Order: sequence, then structure tokens, then C-alpha cells
Amino acid sequence: MFEKILIANRGEIALRIIRTCREMGIKTVAVYSTADRESLHVRFADEAVCIGPPASADSYLSVPKIMAAVEITNADAIHPGYGFLAENAAFAEVCSQYGIKFIGPTPAQIRKMGDKITAKDTMIKAGVPVVPGSDGLIKDVKHGMKVAKEIGYPVIIKATAGGGGKGMRIIWEAKDFENNWNNARQEAKASFGNDGIYIEKYIEEPRHIEFQIVGDQYGKVIHLSERDCSIQRRHQKLVEECPSPFMTDELRLKMGEAAVKAGQCINYEGVGTIEFLVDKYRNFYFMEMNTRIQVEHPVTEEVIDHDLIKEQIKIAAGEPITGENYFPNAHAMECRINAEDPFNNFRPSPGKIVSFHSPKGHGVRVDTHVYASYTIPPYYDSMIAKLICRARTREECIKKMERALDEFVVEGIKTTIPFHQRLMRDENFRAGNFTTAFLNTFEMGEEQK
Ligand code: ADP
Repeated sequence: MFEKILIANRGEIALRIIRTCREMGIKTVAVYSTADRESLHVRFADEAVCIGPPASADSYLSVPKIMAAVEITNADAIHPGYGFLAENAAFAEVCSQYGIKFIGPTPAQIRKMGDKITAKDTMIKAGVPVVPGSDGLIKDVKHGMKVAKEIGYPVIIKATAGGGGKGMRIIWEAKDFENNWNNARQEAKASFGNDGIYIEKYIEEPRHIEFQIVGDQYGKVIHLSERDCSIQRRHQKLVEECPSPFMTDELRLKMGEAAVKAGQCINYEGVGTIEFLVDKYRNFYFMEMNTRIQVEHPVTEEVIDHDLIKEQIKIAAGEPITGENYFPNAHAMECRINAEDPFNNFRPSPGKIVSFHSPKGHGVRVDTHVYASYTIPPYYDSMIAKLICRARTREECIKKMERALDEFVVEGIKTTIPFHQRLMRDENFRAGNFTTAFLNTFEMGEEQK
């Protein structure tokens, strides 16, 4: 087992990883930018190294600085968390050159799945259904319009290096193609340094249902059932739950089998997520794979009562998986609490948290790195906490979530708590009747002062 793990990340996920390391008796090293000096991950780790100024490119994304921190502290493994360098194959390669274990898949596995087009190709070869679309990258506007016509509008154009909903545009008619094409390319270039674009059929009103998989170094791959992430705003997830209210036992068997096959065909090692779109007829299509821990992993952890970070560390240390495919017999749901104003188009609301009281009690979990008097820096993600509830049924879980949201007090900044409170009261949400288009027509109503 590792003696010391460096966590190449910040915020709640850095703290989450430190907690598991503590329980496993592994020492931890935090790295931080000057904007994160007061962050809890810095205080909770055994050692902390400042790696530069606020801009991610000069700190959390700087491979030389992170490797220097590894050298000074003598860490023997790196946990990348999610975001930043988590799906960067070149970084995983540098780690192995230095003899440092990257806690995650091998560089070759990241390459096969990190790039969305290559991933789709791999899945087609493995016999997993994929969203119909272009055969590789689109060369230019003319080529794109020809492909879009063949697939049939509406189509969605996507950045092959994309993530977080960036570099994506839905196009309903041929006349809007050129404009959207230009915008998507510019956005992709600016966000990912790669303006490779491909086209997919736009599946109307689908559900986003993903499967958690786990693979070890000996070729065994299992799945831990699904998470429904259909509640999204601008392609960004806000609520996730397991089981999906749309799921049937039969569909779970089929999708689970496809997810395991996807992992097996690249000998996947570590925890990963296979994302699918599911249409109203319950046809499912592979969309992409995330080769890392997900933000929403606690949903699965709560449903199956299992620590996924511990699983990652054990697999990286060469331990075999002992469990089998898992089918849920409880319900868990996560609300992402962001520092955004839901009454003002979700405008970011960084600043100082004046008071902070997080909900507690049976079946309630809060993963957060913030506290009263903490100042949220404007440079990073706006997520300040994840509220996860677990109960025997979906109905009980929603009631618990409502109770927990009512207990949650954050003063000094705006948060998405009022949004979640309204969502939990929504009849269609309560009935499990929603798709990824649900929030397009959702009304926040008036703010209560
Ligand atoms: P990212 O990696 O940027 O998160 P994804 O490929 O995971 O992008 O897609 C994010 C979301 O965009 C999906 O959950 C879904 O809501 C929507 N989406 C993506 N592709 C399609 C498609 N072909 N048809 C309909 N919706 C799509």
C-alpha cells in the first residue's frame, strides 16, 4: 500500500480524498494556489505545498509544479480527483516516468476514452450502441452541412476534447449551421486548446443515465448500477440520483451489461463512468466515458454503502476486486449547491460566507470545503457543497432532502438552495417525470425576501 499520496486538486474533492487516506493510514500532501491558502484541504492534509498563483494554468494544471511538490514531499502516488489533470494522459505518463503511481487508469486507457471520437469508435467495435453521428472529425462547414443533412436535423455539434457542456451547440435547421459551427470551434479552442468538432444526432428529450463501473488490474470489471443525471442546466448536472425513476430491471440488466463490456474492451483499471442517453422508448446510446471519479460519486456510495475513493486506491495498489455487479435496494440523491443566484439566471456569486450551517441527521451527508468566514475565490468552480440524502424509497428520500435543504443556512452569498427547494416541490419531478429538457421550462418564481 502507498505511504503518502499527493492530491493534485482542491475544494471538496481534495478533502474527500484526504478523509479516506486518513482512514487507511496513508499520509497526504495538499497542493494549493495562493487563492486557496485558507482552504480546508490545506489544513487537513499532513503536508501542504504552495504551487503558484490563482490561475489554474499556473498552479493546479502545471505539471512541472506538481511534480516538484511530489519530489520535495516524497509522495509515492498522486490522486488527481476530477477536473484539472484527472483525464490528462500526458500527465499520467509523466507520473509513471517518475515512478509515481497515478491513481486512475493507464495513459493508454485514458487516451482510448478521453477523446470522445476515439471513445465512440472503441464502443462501436465492442458492439455497444452509440449516438448516431459523423464518422470522425468534421473538416469544414461544407463537410459539416453535408453530414448534418445525412444524419437529419436536429443535430448537436460537439468538441472532441469537450467537457462541462462547453463547445456544444444544438442546430435545428441548415441555415443556422455556419454560425453555430464557428462559435463552437472558437469555444472549443479557447477552453480545451483543441478545436476538433464532430456531429451527432440530437436525441430529443432524452434522459442522461450513467453507469458506475469498477475494474481491477486483472481484467475483472463490474458495475455498481446507474445514476440519473437528467436534471441539468446548460448541460451541467444539478441533481443526481440512484435508482433512476425511469429504470426497469430489464433495462438495468441490458445497460449494465453494455457498461461492463465497455470497460472490458479496454481492460479498464480503476473507477469510471459510462454515460448514456436514453430515449423515450428506452433505447440507450453510449455518449462518453469519464475515466475518473465523478462529482456525483457519493450517490453510488450511499446507495451501496461503499467507499469509492478507497476502491480507487486499493485498485491502484494492485488489489483485486472482490464484489459483483450491484443492484440498488435503497434510494440516494445529490443536490449540488453552487454559489450562484437562481433568481438571476444563475449568475455566479463569489464572496465571503458570513454564516454557514449545514444540515445533519440520519441519512444526510454534506461534502464541502467551505465554512463560515471562508471567502469563495472567483477563479474556480462555483460548487460549494454537495448535499446527499439516502432513504429506503425515492419518496422518503425527497422528503428528507426537503427537510435537509430547509436546515441549510448559507449567508453572505447567493446559492442554489432555493432552486433545489422548488425543484423538490415540483409535481413532475416528484413523479419522476423529467428529461434533460426539464429545466428549460422550469420557473423559479419570485424570490422571498
Ligand atoms: P460534457 O462532456 O461537456 O459534459 P456530454 O457529452 O457528457 O458533454 O453531454 C452533456 C449533456 O449534453 C448530456 O447529458 C445531454 O444532456 C446533452 N447531450 C449531449 N449529446 C446529446 C445528444 N446527441 N442528444 C441530446 N442531448 C445531448
